[in-house]
Amino acid sequence: MIIRMFKLRLLNAVAPAYFFSATAVTFIFHFCFFIPTIFQSPGISLRVSTVIHTAVFLYLMLNALGNYVMTIKYPAESANETVIPACSADCSDKIDAHYLLNGRHFCKLCKKVILRRDHHCFFTGNCIGNKNMRYFIMFCIYTSCTCLYSLVLGVAFLTVEYNISFENPLTFLTLLPLSTGYFFLGVISGLQFFLVLMLYVWLGIGLVCAGFCCQQVLLVARGQTYCQMKRGQLVESCSSWKDNLSDVFGSHWAVGLFLPVQTVEAFSGEVAAHHHKHD
Ligand SMILES: [Zn+2]
Repeated sequence: MIIRMFKLRLLNAVAPAYFFSATAVTFIFHFCFFIPTIFQSPGISLRVSTVIHTAVFLYLMLNALGNYVMTIKYPAESANETVIPACSADCSDKIDAHYLLNGRHFCKLCKKVILRRDHHCFFTGNCIGNKNMRYFIMFCIYTSCTCLYSLVLGVAFLTVEYNISFENPLTFLTLLPLSTGYFFLGVISGLQFFLVLMLYVWLGIGLVCAGFCCQQVLLVARGQTYCQMKRGQLVESCSSWKDNLSDVFGSHWAVGLFLPVQTVEAFSGEVAAHHHKHD
């Protein structure tokens, strides 16, 4: 149990560090390599496309980071519960949270009572519940878009700079083993090898985030949480999917799709918790 908690705490510290390093690396690749190389010719149309690509990248990146901050800024914790259940050394709860009544959980990592807890997100180091679920979903969407966009520009960069053709779909499969071999033979530089690795990182994160986001939206529409799904407690929600979605996304949901702003009313968390008292 102690080792398990230690591992979880370690992950809680390593995952945000990984997130910020990957963000910094993506930033550097875009502005030091991709944008100057792909759009280097001094034509008017090329200058316009440089501005467009920079704007699109910054927009996606700022939305991902903005929603990341909002997820942490508006935690799903219960404001009026100060008494926390003590966890004994021989606690039988194998998962990272105690299950309390009325959809509330005590997260052992956050050490807080969380309303309508969905899961503990290691990348933000916070629990995801009813209040920050909307920011978390938008964070996943924009992270996925940023990664896939970086992947496209990365492929364009390899094509322009090193004449690697991606016309054959198999190129992407053979790129990593070939680059690894070339790197150890000293044919390509460490930077080139690192870029190839980043292509796979972007592809992986992009696909995982997109899939995770779809799962979360479906769960929210059904009025369920990931916690309930894990415990096999999926039951038909009494409210319609529209009500379930507006419960999480708030009344100004459309604005929230494009900007990382607060769209969920501050009190809605307590109201939602009250609604779900019969859970
Ligand atoms: Zn937590």
